[in-house]
Amino acid sequence: MGEYQIALLPGDGIGPEVIREAVRVLEAVGSRCGHTFTQGTYLVGGAATDACGVPYPPETASGLKSADAILLGAVGGPKWDDFPVHLRPEKGLLQMRQDLGLYANLRPAALRPALQSACPLRAETAARGFDIMLVRELTGGIYFGKRDRFQTPDRGEVASDLLEYSELEIERIGRRAFELAMLRRKNLISVDKANVLESSRLWRSVMHRLSRAYPEVQYSDMYVDNAAMQLIRDPAAFDVIVTENMFGDILSDEASMITGSIGLLPSASMGETAPALYEPIHGSAPDIAGQDKANPVAAILSVAMMLQYSLGLPNEAQAIERAVDRVLEAGYRTADMAGGSEIVGTAKMGDMVAAYLA
Ligand code: NAD
Repeated sequence: MGEYQIALLPGDGIGPEVIREAVRVLEAVGSRCGHTFTQGTYLVGGAATDACGVPYPPETASGLKSADAILLGAVGGPKWDDFPVHLRPEKGLLQMRQDLGLYANLRPAALRPALQSACPLRAETAARGFDIMLVRELTGGIYFGKRDRFQTPDRGEVASDLLEYSELEIERIGRRAFELAMLRRKNLISVDKANVLESSRLWRSVMHRLSRAYPEVQYSDMYVDNAAMQLIRDPAAFDVIVTENMFGDILSDEASMITGSIGLLPSASMGETAPALYEPIHGSAPDIAGQDKANPVAAILSVAMMLQYSLGLPNEAQAIERAVDRVLEAGYRTADMAGGSEIVGTAKMGDMVAAYLA
């Protein structure tokens, strides 16, 4: 029986709607298992720009640092699209990740048993199921490298983006991935482009060095183009994947598509000492905001990840996963999910999961 401090960042669009249901499920876990989850709510994104003039206010920054874990809904929306870059909601997210040093992004992509028919892959591939954990480096690589743009006398304008990785950056993300593999099926595939890129060759040599410290983990390398194919051909062959920022960005979206709906998938972002951040992978879905149509499952499963990885409560995390599967097996779906026998709204979906937990 523990006491935990959770920082809530509902954000914009469907963010507050899905966080409401996630909190309901968190409280159901609390009453079932005798834990107390004290919650503080903070502003981020467009909501923060509206109220405080900046998307990541200082009060939010200091509030987050005293929490045991952070739960975010989503940020963004058309209202802020024309704001200057430093006031846009997404800037708030980037500032927060940087401020908290969140360099490791964990994106599970698992096909829930009740949703096999919603998987866009061949029936026999879907029937085998899959449960992948993609670990993406989040604060280095080409998205953070030096950018340049200049005119040349003979070739017109030239633009360049530098892809740089240090041993330190590779080693810390690699270690996370090996540790995760140890907790799962002990299989790790590192994805790179070492046949072309020098940064990938350094990536690969650091991973090989690390692999010697984890002899129980079955380790292999895979080129990113091959990984993109294998994810579609045989996703069941993957357990943990580790890769750099841009490859991870692309592969994680591909992996999310084969699970059936963007409304199902949680994620975690972790650093060394700051609290980890848990959030659905989807955005603020302005097209359905305020209509009780959003699927709260990704936010609810983000709570399960939070219990497992930040609060050390794996049994409680599994209880949430089981409750979600039971609700889906009973045929309840939000409108974004195919199949099932009854379409329900955001609040009813949250109610059902909380009820199965109780
Ligand atoms: P989106 O994920 O918000 O929506 C894409 C499509 O998926 C929409 O049709 C939406 O209705 C649907 N969808 C998303 N989540 C759903 C859910 N839980 N249940 C049912 N349907 C769902 O992506 P977008 O439309 O590209 O972006 C909208 C806004 O969200 C933009 O401002 C973008 O910058 C922002 N965004 C924020 C985050 C984040 O907060 N981490 C991530 C991605 C996009």
